Amino acid sequence: MHFHKKAERERIGKGRLLLHGTQTVSSEGHLVIGGVDAVELAHEFGTPLYVYDTALIRERIRQFKTAFAAYKELEWQVAYASKAFSTIAMIQLVNEFGLSLDVVSGGELYTALKAGFPAENIHFHGNNKSDDELVLALDAKIGIDIVDNFYELERLEELCASRDQKMEILLRVTPGVEAHTHEFIMTGHDDTKFGFNLDNGMADRAVLLALKAPHLILKGVHCHIGSQIFETEGFVRAIRIIFSYAEKWKDAYGFTMRVLNVGGGFGIKYTEEDLPLPLSKYIDSIVAAVCEESRARSLSIPAIWIEPGRSIIGESGTTLYTVGASKNIPGIRKYVAVDGGMADNIRPALYQAHYAAICANRAKDVADQSVTIAGKCCENGDVLIKESRLPESCRSGDILAVLCTGAYGYSMASHYNRLPNPAVVFVENGEADLVVRRETYDDLISNDLPLKTYSAH
Ligand SMILES: *Cc1c(COP(=O)(O)O)cnc(C)c1O
Repeated sequence: MHFHKKAERERIGKGRLLLHGTQTVSSEGHLVIGGVDAVELAHEFGTPLYVYDTALIRERIRQFKTAFAAYKELEWQVAYASKAFSTIAMIQLVNEFGLSLDVVSGGELYTALKAGFPAENIHFHGNNKSDDELVLALDAKIGIDIVDNFYELERLEELCASRDQKMEILLRVTPGVEAHTHEFIMTGHDDTKFGFNLDNGMADRAVLLALKAPHLILKGVHCHIGSQIFETEGFVRAIRIIFSYAEKWKDAYGFTMRVLNVGGGFGIKYTEEDLPLPLSKYIDSIVAAVCEESRARSLSIPAIWIEPGRSIIGESGTTLYTVGASKNIPGIRKYVAVDGGMADNIRPALYQAHYAAICANRAKDVADQSVTIAGKCCENGDVLIKESRLPESCRSGDILAVLCTGAYGYSMASHYNRLPNPAVVFVENGEADLVVRRETYDDLISNDLPLKTYSAH
């Protein structure tokens, strides 16, 4: 049965292109994104190039908002997890929709503030925030701090006391639920660096300490069970577990959970193999579970917060590369190298993430050969796609589009091999806006200082 399904998927996958959002193919066989020819984008802005279909970003944000808006009495917040893709323009786009924003470092917080994002809508995450980062957050008067551990609880109370300032907080808890996803990006289970474990009493102690801290206002709890999740069961199980504790905390400490933040991790379609649910399905299941548990335990329904990252930005991003060298090893495989790789997209090397690609200037040609798309970094593991279908006609100088690279591509980019970071363009209605300029070689060395010279030998 399983075999048949897989064969069927392969047959379908070979026959058509996996396109997202506004992507289409022009009469001359060019990939078009946001009404702009991808080949022209590559020529105008150079490659590698991150291209974002902003209409699709807006659509995804609207889908989340619409799903929640169906519940009239409910209080809710959608916070964009900016670690997925944080630039000034992106944060401004998010702010147009009145979303909240998750930041996990001083750098992300600084970017948000510079983008003019309202501080009161910023949520601060992280398992090892420095004093400097906490002070930056306190100075800006951000909306809420998600406290991850006892050290932070203590530091934050001390800092608030020294400044005679109060701060609203959530406690990040670990419900011991594993999301059905890749091991390296699971965070909801017990053996994780994040959060207060529920089942060993850590979270109980944290609640008590937070309630006693004079300058901290405990609003509720947070959990994030993983990423690229294709089912709703993990969320529902986490919610049920948290509620069993919320009831206990109400009875024992008189604490009312006013906010339940269930994190992000909603799956997206990187390849034909990925079968994500409509975003509204995740929301409907989460809301149903929260309402049911609240009623069953006679607790008031808390505000429900979510933190989508990749499901807002992932599918809207495409990376354009220029095809260069290729190497055919008869009987083994054909390597096709592009002018980027693990420096602009670490995910395949980091956790075997899968992507699909299109030859952007031959999008109408039949993808009749299987090739391995390699990057240009000095690592044998610098492979973007192990098994990619491309047309036989694809050759050096062609433009290759790797799809669905909008999340954790640019934001995880490195300078390995001293590759300058690519530019980022937003495309919509036939227009392209440069939102991050390409780094130059001078940018790469701009913080380098020369060797100190001494006269002695
Ligand atoms: C990474 C992360 C998110 C976003 O995850 P996505 O898979 O991008 O939706 C949300 N909340 C927390 C706490 C995270 O660490």
